[in-house]
Amino acid sequence: MTLKHSCDIKDILIIGGGLVGATLAVALALTKKEYSQALVDAAPEEALFDPRLIALTPGSVCLFKNLDIWPHLVKYAEPIKHIHVSKRGSFGSVAIHAAELDLSELGFVVPAKYINAALYSIIRKTSAITLLKPAQLQSFTYNQEEVSLQINLGEKTTTYRAKKMIGADGNHSLVRQLLNIPTRQIDYHQSAIVTMTTLKSAHENVAYERFQHKGAIAMLPLQENKVATIWTDDNAIISDLMTLEDEAFIKQLQKNMGYRLGRFLAISQRSVFPLQMIQAKELPQSKLFLLLGNAAHTLNPIAAQGLNLSLYEVAALVENLQKNDFSLHGFHHQYQKSLQLSHYLPKIFASDFFMLPGIRPLGMLGLDSFFPAKKFFAKAAMQHSGKIPALLLPD
Ligand SMILES: Cc1cc2nc3c(=O)[nH]c(=O)nc-3n(C[C@H](O)[C@H](O)[C@H](O)COP(=O)(O)OP(=O)(O)OC[C@H]3O[C@@H](n4cnc5c(N)ncnc54)[C@H](O)[C@@H]3O)c2cc1C
Repeated sequence: MTLKHSCDIKDILIIGGGLVGATLAVALALTKKEYSQALVDAAPEEALFDPRLIALTPGSVCLFKNLDIWPHLVKYAEPIKHIHVSKRGSFGSVAIHAAELDLSELGFVVPAKYINAALYSIIRKTSAITLLKPAQLQSFTYNQEEVSLQINLGEKTTTYRAKKMIGADGNHSLVRQLLNIPTRQIDYHQSAIVTMTTLKSAHENVAYERFQHKGAIAMLPLQENKVATIWTDDNAIISDLMTLEDEAFIKQLQKNMGYRLGRFLAISQRSVFPLQMIQAKELPQSKLFLLLGNAAHTLNPIAAQGLNLSLYEVAALVENLQKNDFSLHGFHHQYQKSLQLSHYLPKIFASDFFMLPGIRPLGMLGLDSFFPAKKFFAKAAMQHSGKIPALLLPD
């Protein structure tokens, strides 16, 4: 679908229709009905092959419920009721139970492809959203009042105008580059293998995270007695693991995880993702531009914060826009918290956890009995601390 007249000016134009840009489009269509908006996405089709398996916090689930997205997802979502964190070669573990925090669950795990499919089934039916897909931002210019964008649609490049532009165009964001926003980048020289493991016994809705010498293995409950399996380690180790036949890989996985989840029977196709942190150093202070999602911050996925943080920001932006404030003001402290958790959690658990000042007396066993610290970890991981945008709260 194209704009009827390319000289029409849109109130908001979103570049990038990944999970973040697409959720924002749906949220705006529901809460700012007077806004005209366009969503521009380069991918030819919905990412139905996206292998990522996403752990959603209760706040993110509330957002999806409040936006009527959840009914599309509920049949694919499996609750996490317990989290169990341990380190290979060390005694002790940390256990967090939903009931201890007066919650029915600590979150849900949903395959990304279903979130994507749900978002686009809504977007395609919502007349307030002009969808340009596949379409690619080439360049833009701007003055005090508006942005003029060159968008490539197949063979043709067309100019579109917008009063505000949001860059939700991922880690290599062209919007960020064209605005000359500097980045802080950390290459962890690690990658993650993502697969689904079929279990012999029931997973009992426990999410396991087991830290290794350098990396970690997370196994999160999925439907049909499968578990989302994310194995991170140094690039060379991950490359070796990728060369193994399924049977040998399962054996290795079992050796590293032990038998808490019983026997592993099979795995699905394995995919590899590089681990990096990219942080836009200065977010634009402008009434014209904003960066969201991976374009603003790509986090180490080990703490399952990336999408959850971005959904928090989508909800914050939508709330501020009700007061015509095109910013994340008042909410942005969450960003530093998620950033630190994603960056330091693997270090705390994988390195010499016991040696860290302040934490040394607790150890991993101590953390389990030291409830306030445990509660802090759980709440930070669930983003249920600080100011919460209304869309992240139950209806
Ligand atoms: C292995 C792994 C596991 C993860 N697990 C979790 C988890 O459990 N929980 C969690 O919260 N997060 C998790 N994350 C993080 C989460 O996946 C990301 O935070 C989230 O997907 C970012 O979405 P996005 O829309 O910002 O970026 P992207 O998904 O990268 O989307 C960007 C979009 O922009 C489009 N685009 C790019 N350039 C242009 C252009 N020039 N013009 C038009 N369109 C353009 C692309 O086509 C794409 O559709 C995980 C990440 C990984 C790698």
